[in-house]
Amino acid sequence: MDATLFVLKDYFGFMSFRPYQQEVIEKIIEKRDFFVVMATGSGKSLCYQVPPLVVKKTGIVVSPLISLMQDQVMALKQRGVKVEYLSSAQKDYTIQGKAERGQFDILFMTPEKACTIPTSFWSNLLKEGISLFAVDEAHCISEWGHDFRVEYKQLDKLRGVLLDVPYVGLTATATEKVRFDITNSLKMNNPYIVVGSFDRPNLFYGVKQFNRGQYFIDELVEEIPKEVANGSTIIYCTTIKDVEQIYKSIMNVGINAGMYHGQMDGKSREESHRLFVRDEKQVMVATIAFGMGIDKPNIRKVIHYGFPKNLESYYQESGRCGRDGIASACWLYYTRSDFSKGDYYAADLKSKNQKKNCYGVIA
Ligand code: ADP
Repeated sequence: MDATLFVLKDYFGFMSFRPYQQEVIEKIIEKRDFFVVMATGSGKSLCYQVPPLVVKKTGIVVSPLISLMQDQVMALKQRGVKVEYLSSAQKDYTIQGKAERGQFDILFMTPEKACTIPTSFWSNLLKEGISLFAVDEAHCISEWGHDFRVEYKQLDKLRGVLLDVPYVGLTATATEKVRFDITNSLKMNNPYIVVGSFDRPNLFYGVKQFNRGQYFIDELVEEIPKEVANGSTIIYCTTIKDVEQIYKSIMNVGINAGMYHGQMDGKSREESHRLFVRDEKQVMVATIAFGMGIDKPNIRKVIHYGFPKNLESYYQESGRCGRDGIASACWLYYTRSDFSKGDYYAADLKSKNQKKNCYGVIA
């Protein structure tokens, strides 16, 4: 049996690859740099999980959030994969020691850790062999993307150290400009690029005009599944004031909701996130600060109370719905005033574009 298929069945229990997975995996094994743009839920993770198990050399995966890495490590351990993660917050160096001796199939790292770990770590691990260097949520590298993280920009420093290691960038959303920026920033060498379909066939998209007030709250409440078994809901608001207002209104009618925005302290945000992930809160009313790392399969509704910033953000935010493939709905509620806000954002973007773009050309 083909070695990749063997790993797929043996570790993951799947009978066949999904579109693009095998192509990506084989090219990585051939040491080709690869850039994967595939929709949420399409199975990108497998693209970097299979090659290390086939070539039996550690795969490094850079991931933006510790909570995301912890979830992945736990799930992979259950499948019998030797896996750990490293972050700058860890004080115990046992894992790091084991990692540089090549004792893990997969090692997750925060971008900060990847950039600050001593070079001797990489030279020791290179002696054991590194199957790939994957950058998950690669759009964070681009200032043109929607979740720019400055530490991601530093990852290019490692290219000179990991000369013969295939680089893999993965993201669910990247415009052509962002794609160009990512492959350039990571100093990818003639990358093979796969852009899968962005269609999410299980998602229904609907748009409705509304007027603020109790009538709207009643309608909103109708949309929210009440039973845990029917999945959870995110309500995205454009301002913190709206978050607080909607949260209060739906709590008043007995809906078990949580709240999340940038002015809450870190601990309250973490707690809110945790309760939502564990289905102890069925609804999350949030600003877009509630973003990356929401790897919850059973979100049935994503409701936008007001326009998102742009189409790419909307795809990303609404895309958190229905990761498990079950029919789910995304509703966008707008008022007339959203159009003037939209004009403002568009003008702002245009002036930024004129100052600088990724091709270094004044547009
Ligand atoms: P993404 O990273 O693209 O959002 P994931 O890698 O999290 O998607 O995969 C989404 C779901 O699809 C997961 O539950 C995963 O186990 C499942 N999956 C991935 N590849 C396959 C496959 N070849 N056959 C069946 N299920 C798969």
